[in-house]
Amino acid sequence: MNDSNALLTVQNVKKYFKGTKGCQVKAVDDVSFAVAKGETLGLVGESGCGKSTLGRTVLNLVNATEGGVIYEGRDILKLPQTEMRMLRKKLQMVFQNPYSSLNPRMTVLEAVRAPLDIFGIGTKEERFERSRDILKYVGLDEYQMYRYPHEFSGGQRQRIVIARAIISEPDFVVCDEPVSALDVSVRAQVLNLMQDIQKERGVAYLFISHDLSVVKHISDRIAVMYLGKIVEISPRETLYDQPGHPYTQALLSAIPIPDTDIVRERIILKGDLPSPMNPPAGCRFHTRCRFAVEECRMKEPKMRFDESGHGVACHRWKE
Ligand code: ADP
Repeated sequence: MNDSNALLTVQNVKKYFKGTKGCQVKAVDDVSFAVAKGETLGLVGESGCGKSTLGRTVLNLVNATEGGVIYEGRDILKLPQTEMRMLRKKLQMVFQNPYSSLNPRMTVLEAVRAPLDIFGIGTKEERFERSRDILKYVGLDEYQMYRYPHEFSGGQRQRIVIARAIISEPDFVVCDEPVSALDVSVRAQVLNLMQDIQKERGVAYLFISHDLSVVKHISDRIAVMYLGKIVEISPRETLYDQPGHPYTQALLSAIPIPDTDIVRERIILKGDLPSPMNPPAGCRFHTRCRFAVEECRMKEPKMRFDESGHGVACHRWKE
């Protein structure tokens, strides 16, 4: 994608937390990317690499340490609270756990109507009708509107959470592992619903998952994160067919290829994910990389792009 069709541009965002003994946890460390209108950007990486923190920082739900997020010509990380609150209807989030993201004392109707109430959208009747319609759209019957979250299955609850996220007609939704807590049998249904919503409403998603096989079906492009940094970003097919970063190659090698005789060599990553309090010097991945050379230990690789928009932060890419 080019910058002219960017809906949202993330510029050099950092989020450091205070760690123990005065150390900093560099959860997100100088991340830049853009999301186009109506596209899905998948964000993958091992647990603890900073995906959730990045998603929350981009939406200004936690304060960034540095950097900016440009949306509608303004840096939303610098907006006063009151203006940010009004923008929330356009920038929404769906969390992993549908059990904890719904208030147990609110009926489903109240939960889904809440954004309209908060942003003062429509009359009372309109708010009711819109809530009823959106619940129907995500697959719930009218008689279920007055029930409480505990009366629903995990898949139904996530449908309700999705309804609440889209009722204010957002342009951009950060979806943080939205199907990870669901039974495998209902995952595909929820993913299909999200894709239908995107087709009909043109909403863009940042779709976070630790699992490359989940983002494969839903993403237009995919970004791979390692220890607070994006190490590769590319159109979906390119990432799966020609992964450029040794970390992406290792992640992909762990996914079985169904219904084919292709046997991919399984690349076992050496050691554990290093601590974000003390990331390795040079390329952060060099301690686990099978191709690392002296340069990788000394110098941090910059993201380089080819003409197809495939970007890789590795000294040895296309050597
Ligand atoms: P992921 O979503 O990829 O699993 P997270 O964004 O949750 O990763 O976490 C990235 C790193 O930041 C981890 O090392 C985590 O322990 C740390 N972290 C996340 N939130 C906080 C916090 N509020 N305070 C301190 N450290 C945090």
